[in-house]
Amino acid sequence: MLTHIFNKIDNNDPLSRDDIKFMLSLETEADIQSLYQKAYSIKEQTVGTKVFFRGIVEFSNICEKDCYYCGIRKSNENAERFMLTADQIVESALWAHQSEYGSIVLQSGERSDPWYIDLIEEVLERVKAETSGELGITLSLGEQSENTYKRWFKAGGHRYLLRIETTNPELYGKLHPPDHSFEERCECLKLLRKLGYQVGTGVMIGLPYQTIDDLAGDILFFKDNDIDMIGMGPYIVHHETPLADVMPDFDNDRQLDLGLKMVAVARIVLRDVNIAATTALQALNPTGREMGLKAGANIIMPNITETKYRASYQLYNGKPCLDENSTMCRGCLQRRIDSIGEKIGFNEWGDSPHFIKKSNCKKTTGA
Ligand code: SAM
Ligand code: SF4
Repeated sequence: MLTHIFNKIDNNDPLSRDDIKFMLSLETEADIQSLYQKAYSIKEQTVGTKVFFRGIVEFSNICEKDCYYCGIRKSNENAERFMLTADQIVESALWAHQSEYGSIVLQSGERSDPWYIDLIEEVLERVKAETSGELGITLSLGEQSENTYKRWFKAGGHRYLLRIETTNPELYGKLHPPDHSFEERCECLKLLRKLGYQVGTGVMIGLPYQTIDDLAGDILFFKDNDIDMIGMGPYIVHHETPLADVMPDFDNDRQLDLGLKMVAVARIVLRDVNIAATTALQALNPTGREMGLKAGANIIMPNITETKYRASYQLYNGKPCLDENSTMCRGCLQRRIDSIGEKIGFNEWGDSPHFIKKSNCKKTTGA
């Protein structure tokens, strides 16, 4: 069956939901390794083997939402809340620029008060001005109004990462309080596309109640919605969240395997999109991100947040690099990437080839 699926891939025949489920269910080491090799050869053909960095600034853990899985959810009274100033955020961005990172990601808990919206706008304008527009900027700031997305796009944010978390609405309902809406999250993804952002989404992998059929549905959702970038990673328990009680038998190795298989299958099905090897992979195994690159990912998001705030942005147990600083992370990553024979695209934006092709096509057809 795997040979049959690989033949379909080689002939550019579309893969069915059952094909995707079959690949995600592979169990023998030999089969799993051939899946990764297949994904890697597609990565070489479509996006190449250069790794692009997005230095991530996790600038605030203040959040209006209460997702049942997240360590910084509103109701977690043990989370020590913090918010960096505009100067501090800009300073981290400038460090990334000086360190030759092509892009940054600005991420925080979700909030939509006018003060916060203005602050993000100011930060974007300053970063653009102070780096002469050279630094790429991805935003990961949750659900916002059309007007807010518009303002931030105009101010310089050109990519937006909004994970759908799971594409099964029933499962979404089990992971969130009733006032968190799956439909609104889908609407936000559509808005972002309409406004011209490169659109990124993703899911958590290995969630309680989640099936292989759900994960296959996730990959088909990415395809059907013409997604440009994927940022997905294993779900990891945070002990102070309601979902921790649902998964007492958390299995690190299973989560890691499933996370890597999802990266590989996403690369095989979606081909030319950017796919991140996320920090959650590294939380489960010290070389998890390199494993992600070998399974088909091409983006890494090194943490460039000031060290003293890192421990307070704890989404799940065992988050890595809490006591390192950004310079240590840069050196460590360079060695790790060298070790697998790939190169870093320093000073390059590394936009999603999928997005670039669509834009070129629009230019030539005038669409
Ligand atoms: N607040 C914004 C949002 O939710 O889109 C951005 C920040 S949020 C912390 C970023 C991502 O963290 C979420 O999309 C979610 O997938 C992930 N996350 C939260 N809790 C997690 C957990 N326990 N395990 C793995 N990922 C988690
Ligand atoms: Fe807030 Fe995002 Fe965590 Fe949900 S996942 S509680 S929106 S920070």
